Amino acid sequence: MPLSARLRSIPNLIVLENVPLAVYTRFGLGGPADLLVETSDEAAFGEAWRQIHDARVPVEVIGGGSNLIVSDEGFRGVILRFVGDTIHVADNVITAGAGATLQALVDASIDAGLGGIHTMTRIPGLVGAAVYGNAGAYGHSIHEWVTEVRFHDGSGVRSFANADCEFRYRESVFKRHKNWTILSTRLALQPADAVDLRRKATEIQAIRDEKYPPTMKCAGSIFKNLLFDQLPPAVQAHVPPSKVREGKVPSAHFLEAVGAKGFAIGGIRNADYHANLIYNTGTGTAAEVCQMVDELKRRVVERFGFELQEEVQYIGFGDSRRSY
Ligand SMILES: Cc1cc2nc3c(=O)[nH]c(=O)nc-3n(C[C@H](O)[C@H](O)[C@H](O)COP(=O)(O)OP(=O)(O)OC[C@H]3O[C@@H](n4cnc5c(N)ncnc54)[C@H](O)[C@@H]3O)c2cc1C
Repeated sequence: MPLSARLRSIPNLIVLENVPLAVYTRFGLGGPADLLVETSDEAAFGEAWRQIHDARVPVEVIGGGSNLIVSDEGFRGVILRFVGDTIHVADNVITAGAGATLQALVDASIDAGLGGIHTMTRIPGLVGAAVYGNAGAYGHSIHEWVTEVRFHDGSGVRSFANADCEFRYRESVFKRHKNWTILSTRLALQPADAVDLRRKATEIQAIRDEKYPPTMKCAGSIFKNLLFDQLPPAVQAHVPPSKVREGKVPSAHFLEAVGAKGFAIGGIRNADYHANLIYNTGTGTAAEVCQMVDELKRRVVERFGFELQEEVQYIGFGDSRRSY
């Protein structure tokens, strides 16, 4: 029996064929996936994983598609989404399904008078990917509040405490185990005044909506910022102290110096006002995004002698593109 038929026999699983992934990415780019499979049921997820693995078909897990570059050729295999989105608040602890939007989690925390993640207002995407990439903004990242992560490890469900997750700047152990899928997470937050939290979140929202207009087809920052301590001394000398915040230097500092702002290739542009923001004007292709990424990396190596690392994750490029 073909894989699609076997997957269709699993209860509570949605199975779609030949799905254009551009619809599932904020960049609005990407060709079709052979199969796209979605469920909010953990048992169905486990069974689907087993069937896909037994059939030896390539698989990629995605969330809300806000940090992805998917190739124009699409993906020969199965795209899997876990969309369980329950959010439960008890005292200062919130448990959230990996398929909840991060904004729903932020809103629930604010409504419950719990502070901490309110600065993550308007970071697009789902909770699972936020943990996977240790998402954050305004000097804070989600790892500061995570106490537990439940995940499917390819054969069963396991649970990690914060220390097991090996969180670092935009990093976690989950980035190094692509067959681990986050199912839910638990956060311990701090009691705070709900009105004050909402006011701060609204201020952040206004700033972010100006920088990233809600209809902009992009993936936020393309490259990771740099840890000042890890830069070669000659590069550190190029960085004015005012550019170093919480030990990090914006990659935009180096990109601006190599003329990134306003740079365009076909329908893909680098923003005039932010050198680490690449967007699709509507007619762009994933190949053009890759060309721009490669050209900017090349210029930074040539001028400063080190290589920027992408924050965005690649799908459908085989071994030719690396997700960091
Ligand atoms: C306008 C804009 C602004 C942004 N601003 C910020 C910001 O301020 N800070 C920040 O940190 N990020 C920011 N981002 C990036 C993005 O929002 C985050 O990376 C987000 O966490 C991605 O969530 P997603 O659900 O869309 O993940 P996707 O893009 O779908 O996937 C991203 C990665 O997560 C993996 N993944 C997804 N779900 C799971 C799961 N359940 N288990 C295991 N792995 C999984 C995927 O395999 C993929 O490698 C921004 C993006 C945009 C478009």
